[in-house]
Amino acid sequence: MDRPQFLLGVLAASAAAAAPAPAAGPPAATREDVAVANRVLAHEGVVDGFGHVSVRDPADASRYWLARSMAPALVTAADVLTYDLESTPLDANGATSYLERFIHGAIYKARPDVQSIVHAHTPAVIPFGVSSVPLRAVFHMGAFLGSDGIPVFEIRDTGGSATDLLVSSNALGDALARTLGGANVALMRGHGMVAVAGSIPEAVFRAYYTAQDAQLEGEALRMGSVKFLTADEARHATQTQTSLVARSWELWKRAVSH
Ligand code: MN
Repeated sequence: MDRPQFLLGVLAASAAAAAPAPAAGPPAATREDVAVANRVLAHEGVVDGFGHVSVRDPADASRYWLARSMAPALVTAADVLTYDLESTPLDANGATSYLERFIHGAIYKARPDVQSIVHAHTPAVIPFGVSSVPLRAVFHMGAFLGSDGIPVFEIRDTGGSATDLLVSSNALGDALARTLGGANVALMRGHGMVAVAGSIPEAVFRAYYTAQDAQLEGEALRMGSVKFLTADEARHATQTQTSLVARSWELWKRAVSH
């Protein structure tokens, strides 16, 4: 190598060293996980053309990531947008946002422990939001639902009697977050549910098994009187299943990877 070529090489090397770190590593992996979670929920029948899943930005607790307005089965990492906790998009570049993004911002604001949120309209849960029958843990996989009956959000209390039932403002999102309180899941009367968790795999797990528990509880109620998990059983089973969430995630992920 002659001297000019050597100097160009040094310059190129120092430019590379000064360049910002590539967008690989945890943030990119998490954006990919948001996309995978959308496709898993669709593949497992928890969401259809509607519904969404978000994650709090792992590097900035005042932001979260959520796909642009589109069917969950089609989401890729490139569709994931950044929002602040008022649910204002920060990098939309003209992309449309979900009407119900306020669900996510309001809950992240109210619940510092929550890192991921699923919103879905899974049919099996609807009867428990519109009747007087509470949704409770009826089998061990639904243990995180607890034994007292999960809270039900009544949009009329905040939005009056003529809303379109969508949580389409921060006022409605805040009201939903108040109904959720410290619970893992809330039903939304005549609409669906929201499941919250400490990670994306756990949020997907909770949404999936909320739907399963609702299906099973409905079937058991039609057969006669039902024996639910006690508070102690629900607590112990929840502790046990926390370490097993990864197993389902790996399985579900494989089915939608391409
Ligand atoms: Mn909805």
